[in-house]
Amino acid sequence: MGKKYGVCGLCFHSPGCGVTISFDEENRIDRLEPDPDAPLGRILCPIADSVREVVYSDKRLKHPLKRVGPKGTHEFEQISWDEAFETIVDQLNELREKYGPETVGIYAGTGSYERSFKDIYQLKGSEIYLASSVLFPFGSPNTFGVGAPCYTSLGVLAPKLTMGCRHIDMFSDVDNADLILVWGTDPSTSTPPEMFERLKTASEEGAEIIVIDPRKTMATELEGSEWIKIRPGTDGALALGLAHILIRDNLYDEEFVEEWTVGFDDFSEYVKDFFPEQVSRITGISESKIEVLAESIVDAEGATYLMYTGLEYTKSGVQNIRAVMVLWALAGQLDVEGGRCFLRRENSFPLPRSKQIETPGLDKSIGKDKFPVYSRFCGGEPHASLLPKSIIDGDPYKIRSLIVLGASLLTSWPNPRVWRKALCELDFMVSIDLQLTADAAYADIVLPSTTGFEQESYCYYGNALRLREKIIDPVEESMPPYDILAELAKRLGYGDLYPQNKAELLDYILSESGYTVEDLMKAERHVLRGPRAEMVYRKWETGLLRADGQPGFETPSCKFEIKSNILEEYGYSGIPRYEESDETPISNPEVFKKYPLVFGTGPFKPDMKSCLRAIPSFIEKYPYPVVEMNESDAEDRGVKRGDLVSIRTARGAVRMRAFVTDKIMKGFVYAPVGGGGPLGPDEWKEANVNLLTDLEQFDEISGFPVYKTLLCQITKKKRKRKGIAVQDPSLGCVG
Ligand code: SF4
Repeated sequence: MGKKYGVCGLCFHSPGCGVTISFDEENRIDRLEPDPDAPLGRILCPIADSVREVVYSDKRLKHPLKRVGPKGTHEFEQISWDEAFETIVDQLNELREKYGPETVGIYAGTGSYERSFKDIYQLKGSEIYLASSVLFPFGSPNTFGVGAPCYTSLGVLAPKLTMGCRHIDMFSDVDNADLILVWGTDPSTSTPPEMFERLKTASEEGAEIIVIDPRKTMATELEGSEWIKIRPGTDGALALGLAHILIRDNLYDEEFVEEWTVGFDDFSEYVKDFFPEQVSRITGISESKIEVLAESIVDAEGATYLMYTGLEYTKSGVQNIRAVMVLWALAGQLDVEGGRCFLRRENSFPLPRSKQIETPGLDKSIGKDKFPVYSRFCGGEPHASLLPKSIIDGDPYKIRSLIVLGASLLTSWPNPRVWRKALCELDFMVSIDLQLTADAAYADIVLPSTTGFEQESYCYYGNALRLREKIIDPVEESMPPYDILAELAKRLGYGDLYPQNKAELLDYILSESGYTVEDLMKAERHVLRGPRAEMVYRKWETGLLRADGQPGFETPSCKFEIKSNILEEYGYSGIPRYEESDETPISNPEVFKKYPLVFGTGPFKPDMKSCLRAIPSFIEKYPYPVVEMNESDAEDRGVKRGDLVSIRTARGAVRMRAFVTDKIMKGFVYAPVGGGGPLGPDEWKEANVNLLTDLEQFDEISGFPVYKTLLCQITKKKRKRKGIAVQDPSLGCVG
């Protein structure tokens, strides 16, 4: 029994919450508590309570496996690591020889986000770290990542195109803002959970909080908050309508527009159509509310926003986010105290890039022509949405082998039927994960990975770097994903390109910091801190945003691009145009007649991307998946809370229980992603929400699926399913 300071290793979404770890008599991890003196440790998310169950779960993969049953059956037998690696290397080499290296691909998901993995395997030239370069030296450009359906629109594309920086180069000054818009995100379920605490403090100190969302999230319960219900997917129209008012009433920052922007005239012409009456019709928000909101944003002594996926998953997701960014700049709330601010580059702990590897060739990178902006900012990463076409139809050529790491294609992407067909067609597949996934049923080899507690690495907090100490030995034969790929690279003949052990890794990662590994080991809690230059606002005026030190923005025009040069170069609209998605009550009234509810889906946060599905305390709390629906929609259908219902779209049907609530807009229903895997209760296993979504509806810039604005109908299930009927012989002939 004892305690130790460390870093939580349960998720890799957070930079790594600092924790105090308690151990039991057998030195097993028992409990986590916050460590307020760590860089990020004031509060832990609820998942931390399940640490013991997750780390020592009997459902964890403990040994390498090879498939012995037919594809789709999850029938495996244990093999050694040596046999597993030999099989993989032999298969990859054989496929390269027969069909070319590009026919081998890898897809990395959230389970692989550990920091050293992100930095070392990041594709050279990429602004994001959600794919792995490990097959580049092999000759394949086909390294796919979960950035194709998530985060890249907000995190990279919209800010790069508009301001020449990434989302993580900025921050929302919640601590000083008088007005905070919580727009299309729910910070109460975010990981790490710190932001909601800061939001609470802001509300206690008098900040006004406006939540723009079809769902009444926890932020609406904070003191001084207001819920503005918006028709799902119309956020871009609202942002343009607010900009219209600023321009109409001369409330915008004229000096900024004159000196520092391009495209204002075209933009003002375009937003003429977004007058309050029209925007009210589109969004469902009253004209007066729209007028007041515009004034509030301009008048606030510091207005900022928190924003996320709510705006990404429509036909014009990237442009919606750009519209909000333009609105903020026009309102004079960009890089001012309490606004949406740029970080000072000097304050980032310097991380080296020299080991990052470049794509072996864009010509064979799948999707570079269909999603050229994505490809440009993601180091030539191909777009995963095109994988099924490649595997099944050979378009533009056949991918024949896939390594799926920390991800489940079958449950996270629209249309699992087509993905299943694709996985069936593969000549060879590897699944690397903490536990069995739906995809693993089609894998020839399954490899067990570790949690973050079982590996040595580091965490990165912007201006600080912390050692991630190994807290326990890997459970059974599991291995950290970083090490699995490093070993694979070694066996493929190019291990020298990636640090192969902790000493090499830390030496490399500190190589441009002025610190040594010894400094790291000696530092309090093994935390090294970078420089802290004081805050300067309106950085474009003093050359603090550009690498060459000149005033302006790091964009092609060196200005804030209301009209994006890069978008125009690739044939897209340069100004942030709003588009209705293809399947909404307005764009498709015929489908709306049959499917009269707007359907949205997204992660089920308590579940950490389905990692907890087999954890007893999770099952106790969430024994089945629920679809949230408004009381009046439920009443119209004779549905009560807990009833089994069928959710049907033009693609298929899924059963869930109804969660009847007044915390969701009338006409909108929300069902979580994450069901459909092989673990947990049957009701979860059977509820793959992506049977309802559509691979053919996407944002043309990012390629992101439209997850938030589809149409569905909900009906109460009349009888509970009993499974396959078996004739009872005692009844004789019942014909
Ligand atoms: S967000 Fe939760 S699971 Fe993730 S590191 Fe922090 S405490 Fe752990």
